[in-house]
Amino acid sequence: LQANFSVIQENEGPINGVITVLHDVTEQEQIEQDRREFVANVSHELRTPLTTMKSYLEALEDGAISDPDLGPRFLGVTQNETERMIRLVNDLLQLSKIDSRDYQLNLSTVDFVLYLHEVIDRFDMIAANKNIHFIRKISPQLTYVKMDRDKLTQVLDNIISNAMKYSPEGGNVTITLEHYGQNIRVSISDEGMGIPRESQQKIFDRFYRVDKARARSIGGTGLGLAIAKELVHAHHGEIWVESMYGQGTTIFFTLPFTKNKEGNW
Ligand code: ADP
Repeated sequence: LQANFSVIQENEGPINGVITVLHDVTEQEQIEQDRREFVANVSHELRTPLTTMKSYLEALEDGAISDPDLGPRFLGVTQNETERMIRLVNDLLQLSKIDSRDYQLNLSTVDFVLYLHEVIDRFDMIAANKNIHFIRKISPQLTYVKMDRDKLTQVLDNIISNAMKYSPEGGNVTITLEHYGQNIRVSISDEGMGIPRESQQKIFDRFYRVDKARARSIGGTGLGLAIAKELVHAHHGEIWVESMYGQGTTIFFTLPFTKNKEGNW
């Protein structure tokens, strides 16, 4: 903490007061350090797929291209890496938009129960491939939420696809909707590997992954939950995790709701 003092005094007369300005230097330093870390992370995350692509393209140039087995395989790798880079850049653009001062949500009043079922219906198709079952514990009470539909869909997509990614074959994913006072609480619960206690607070940080190599091979960018956090906060909600390592993970978030479309109780 840095303090600057100024004395208020007129022509050598009596001292009328003192102005003290306190600067939280540590906070400024922290912001600067976070920014540097972020740039280093972005560079690293972009360099990794680029160096992979470079070496595969060199191998193709050196002759692999005419090998009926290696040719298509190496091209497949470069294609995957390109797709990863596109996902990463899209996520970064999304975060940079949210960070900008004039960020605006496109709000409308949504029947949330109907909406939540629609989002899960869409995932039912994909989940069938991995033999994952969705269990819906969705209270049917009329619930209206003033929200940006596309943005909230992105929040749910990120959380539900994590639940599926980190679940074993045949696992259950339970989606719950409950009402507490003037808030709804949505939770997405899986029976996957769980998250160690010391990592639980960090999973909402940009680029944090519990197991970098594993998460990368599954195709994540490390930005999904950071985006979810920003978007839930923009909707005046909270988001958090509860997890038992080895047993499963539940992500919770809250949003304010009303009982009718006009926003009244
Ligand atoms: P990623 O794109 O790597 O999935 P996220 O921001 O979505 O990035 O998640 C950050 C990290 O949190 C993941 O890399 C993973 O280690 C951990 N994580 C998120 N959801 C789960 C889950 N349901 N089960 C286990 N680990 C999870």
